[in-house]
Amino acid sequence: MKFKYIVETFEKIEVTSSRIQIVATLSALFKKVIEENKEIIDKVVYFVQGRLWPDWYGYPEIGIGEKGIIKAIALAANVREREVEELLKSLGDLGLVAERLIAKKSSRPSGLLSFTQTQSKDLTFEEVYETLKRIAFLQGEGSRDLKIKKLAGLLKRASPKEAKYIVRFVEGKLRLGVGDASIIEAIASILGVPKEIVERAYNLRADLGNIAKIAFTQGPEALKAIRPQPGIPVRPMLAERLHDPVEILKKVGGKGLAEYKYDGERAQIHLTKEGKVIIYSRRLENITHSYPDVVKYAKENLKAEEAIVEGEIVAVDPNTGELRPFQELMHRRRKHDVHIAMKEYPVHVRLFDAILVNGEDLTNKPLLERRERLISILNQTDEFRLATGEIVDTVEELERLFHQAIADGCEGLVVKAIHKGSIYQAGARGWLWIKYKRDYKSEMIEPVDLVVVGAFYGRGRRGGTFGALLMAGYDEDKDAFMTVCKVGSGFTDEDLAELPDLLKEYIIPNKHPRVVSEIKPDVWIQPALVAEIIGAEITLSPIHTCAIDKVEKGTGLAIRFPRFIKWRPDKGPQDATTCKELLEMYKRQLRRTVE
Ligand code: ATP
Repeated sequence: MKFKYIVETFEKIEVTSSRIQIVATLSALFKKVIEENKEIIDKVVYFVQGRLWPDWYGYPEIGIGEKGIIKAIALAANVREREVEELLKSLGDLGLVAERLIAKKSSRPSGLLSFTQTQSKDLTFEEVYETLKRIAFLQGEGSRDLKIKKLAGLLKRASPKEAKYIVRFVEGKLRLGVGDASIIEAIASILGVPKEIVERAYNLRADLGNIAKIAFTQGPEALKAIRPQPGIPVRPMLAERLHDPVEILKKVGGKGLAEYKYDGERAQIHLTKEGKVIIYSRRLENITHSYPDVVKYAKENLKAEEAIVEGEIVAVDPNTGELRPFQELMHRRRKHDVHIAMKEYPVHVRLFDAILVNGEDLTNKPLLERRERLISILNQTDEFRLATGEIVDTVEELERLFHQAIADGCEGLVVKAIHKGSIYQAGARGWLWIKYKRDYKSEMIEPVDLVVVGAFYGRGRRGGTFGALLMAGYDEDKDAFMTVCKVGSGFTDEDLAELPDLLKEYIIPNKHPRVVSEIKPDVWIQPALVAEIIGAEITLSPIHTCAIDKVEKGTGLAIRFPRFIKWRPDKGPQDATTCKELLEMYKRQLRRTVE
């Protein structure tokens, strides 16, 4: 198909802001493609979207920057690079620069000769696409020059207008303002089906080119029959947000599954029949390469022939298994050497949904059925397991779990409908999932001194020694030690090595009578040792006893993401920060969260 048809379409779209007009123009283009060569419709769709293929293919980008494009234009128009740069300064758009210079060249007498020679055949879309694809795949030494030469070759053969759009495309600045919704409408109008049918197909297979191809080569029935397919990302279901637990419960029908809202990175994990594992992000990028450990966990623990499941990748403290702040996960994404990053920032996966299992599309099944299927194919381990959640039908239960989630390092809860209609709404933000995050948070700005009242055996590197300590504040009224956190971070290797010796003389067989704790550590410790601790926040907690019932009935205070700073041998247990002081700190620092 002649490339000029694409260019004409782009020109028409560029001068209109009317959606109806855009859809009509796109429909006309697609019809022409169908008449001439149906097989390329997918590529035309991608091209209109300003890309050569969906991002999640993970293919290389065209990879020519502004400097390279300037060089290519100079070569094609037979001018100096300086001239291109000067013109860019005045026009501000490399596409317009290319158009102007190619036009000038073709009007020059000598240029006329070469223009008419090379223009003897119109550029086809197929040629443009294939050339750009080849450019993208040129990699390695010397590839930059080759890329530029090939682009120059293409521009030489292009008309001025064609050159304008090729340059904008290569720059990634096509900016036609054509959204997926307009492409979907155009496809639906040609097929003569409601747009919801195309939309649903696209939500289940996030590849609009592929959807168009199925639509026009196999017809509407094939489109209706589309199922998620391992290897092609499914557009994720998203949550609405509410602040009031009463309203949340009402919205989900009085009863729902309240799950921890982990603060990590969403992962859609695909297991293909060939045994390959692919991970897609919330934005459907292929992030498999960042998480070789997740690939391993999925291969070992997903007991299915093929599957698409969803979960959250979270950073964990390797020694205690406790969740770490989101920022640590981002370090991991930024690190170049994945294998080093994997050791420094280990991750776990908490799974919360199953979209497809062994060829069966589960998107129309209610949540609890999907969850059952997920459990049935899951070999649960510490690293790779189901998200924590409970079915709740009272505000009290919801609140308790909410505080527990926060204290455990989560952002809050996602409360999910479990009634018959609780399907997986791919690509939609709806009321079947409601996120419940904090409206207030109390940042911790100064350290506190806490008493060791228990200890937990370590894992991983800390196997054979202690990995975390149960810490308490002092309650003057009760003359007792009330737990406020479990600290496993901040210890140096020396601190850890010394722990068994340090604790030895204080280990007691049962809980000390002056300790009030809902948590049972591996060993109980007589209150004697004081340590300085800092955390990210002070939060409400249903499992810690510090300042219990003071803010809310049944809840105490906890320190979120606590870190050990140093021992305070100069302090006795009664000199520790009191629960009253912790309560004051909590209240003093309470601030509305942004959002
Ligand atoms: P946010 O910034 O609040 O995460 P978002 O726009 O990325 O918002 P939402 O759909 O609004 O996404 O919120 C749900 C997000 O929470 C999911 O995309 C997922 O990454 C994360 N999440 C964590 N735990 C769960 C869970 N148990 N169920 C569903 N989503 C969860």
